[in-house]
Amino acid sequence: MAKIPCPCGTELTYSNCCEMFIRGKQLPETAEGLMRSRYTAYLTGAVDYLVATRHPDFLASDEAKNISAWMM
Ligand SMILES: [Zn+2]
Repeated sequence: MAKIPCPCGTELTYSNCCEMFIRGKQLPETAEGLMRSRYTAYLTGAVDYLVATRHPDFLASDEAKNISAWMM
């Protein structure tokens, strides 16, 4: 997977782009970098990264949805 272009759409390879963020070696420096890395995490199934970088507001709304799904 190291030599493939990063799925987020930069000209960089995956290993030089979002992989560093998803593996926790480095934090994205910009909001755009964060959104790109979350997109890549979504495509590569990096669920832990998606949960770890999710805004608390979205966690709360997901919980509400989960609870209402459980109630039906
Ligand atoms: Zn990337």
